[in-house]
Amino acid sequence: MTAPLPRDPGCIFCKIAAGELPARKIHEDDELIAFYDIAPKAPIHFMLVPKEHIPSTAQFGPRHAALMGRIMLLAPKLAQEQGCAPYPEGGWRIIINTGRHGGQEVPHLHVHVLGGPRPWKWGFGPEL
Ligand code: 5GP
Ligand code: ZN
Repeated sequence: MTAPLPRDPGCIFCKIAAGELPARKIHEDDELIAFYDIAPKAPIHFMLVPKEHIPSTAQFGPRHAALMGRIMLLAPKLAQEQGCAPYPEGGWRIIINTGRHGGQEVPHLHVHVLGGPRPWKWGFGPEL
């Protein structure tokens, strides 16, 4: 048996990862889950979320390199599966907000993937 992944009992993304809260899931494996954002800022807007409770990129250490590598390979695959148009006319935006100044609202690491025809709703600050 492998040890259970660290989790935060009050964390909504830990609850979604554990299946205790509903979400529109598009991918799940041992390490991570991907699901649609409840308040989409673009026609396609989902997030890749490690099942382990890692608060943000600020907590990254060497052991997170492989996990983030997997997420960054999976993001374009899922983006295309979800209907993002091909590069370069189409494409997608990948965002990781970190901390208050970084615009992070949910303190469980998540990688946003946004795509679809412009214009998009603003949601991550007027510069975006
Ligand atoms: P952050 O600002 O932390 O980078 O992004 C958090 C995102 O999580 C927001 O875009 C918000 O709409 C989304 N979100 C917050 N609560 C829930 C929820 O319960 N379910 C889903 N699917 N998304 C959520
Ligand atoms: Zn969590």
